[in-house]
Amino acid sequence: MIRTVLGDIAPEELGVAFAHEHLLMTGGWPVMNEPDYRLDSVDKAVEELQPAQAAGLAAVVEMTPNGFGRSARGLQEISRRTGVHIVATTGLHKVGYYADNHWLHRYSAEQIAGMLVDEIELGMDEHNLEGPLVARTDARAGVVKVATSYHRPGRSVEKLVEAVGEAHGRTGVPVATHNDKGTFGHELLDLLVAAGVPESSVILGHIDHNPDPVVLGELAGRGAYLALDRPGRIKYAPDSDTVELLCALVELGHADRILLGSDLARRSYWRSLGGGPGLDYLLTTFAPRLAGGDLEPVLRQALTTNIARVLDFGKPTSS
Ligand SMILES: [Zn+2]
Repeated sequence: MIRTVLGDIAPEELGVAFAHEHLLMTGGWPVMNEPDYRLDSVDKAVEELQPAQAAGLAAVVEMTPNGFGRSARGLQEISRRTGVHIVATTGLHKVGYYADNHWLHRYSAEQIAGMLVDEIELGMDEHNLEGPLVARTDARAGVVKVATSYHRPGRSVEKLVEAVGEAHGRTGVPVATHNDKGTFGHELLDLLVAAGVPESSVILGHIDHNPDPVVLGELAGRGAYLALDRPGRIKYAPDSDTVELLCALVELGHADRILLGSDLARRSYWRSLGGGPGLDYLLTTFAPRLAGGDLEPVLRQALTTNIARVLDFGKPTSS
């Protein structure tokens, strides 16, 4: 089953899914310091999703973690209003985004694992584990996030990985990462494997920010999923980089490890807020350039069967 904020669904029900998006991000250090990160409107999220839905989008993995203004109830409302399946995340973002005395640095791996498991099995905290009170919702997390820093794990991240490994062992939940600028892929995979998470349960996020087909081929060869989440953000790289990367990965035999998303975590990226490229871009602009070519079925596979396979875990339970 795949765990969405409105309940568990069968993998066949997922449909076309983006592997890394943000729909609500209402607080936390980046939002306070950079107002462009503030995505705080359910109405605007619904509006932003509509053209993407019209182009075929049926599901998103919403990667806003604890302490970042995640809103479990808000995501439920967006899902109810649009019919888009939303897989939400527990876990944390990059350690540099949190206070020096954050519980990550004070709690044991065992304690943190317990908090993660509760968010996966019981429901996410509407207060984002910012404490001291927990407002448990009935929206359960379907992935757990772990984020590393540029070329290094960051303080207490090894402990977090240990906790994530424990949570995976107890639930089977897939792990979705933030690999800063595409770095630390092999190293993070090593840490996760040592913590008991098989490569085939790992989605490496932002890994295409280092669009090196050799490195990405090695990571896919180990069995990890590669979330290519940069198409449309031309300020970082042209879409032709993604096309070339797709060609190279297919040639290396890794079509079954590719996922796609657009990670539009800024107001200025949303068309509903007057920006661009917009959440529909991947389906309305990027996909058509592959139409009729060898990569068309690869894109389809990435957006459907691959993402459904990695999100599928455990046995469904009534929510
Ligand atoms: Zn993101």
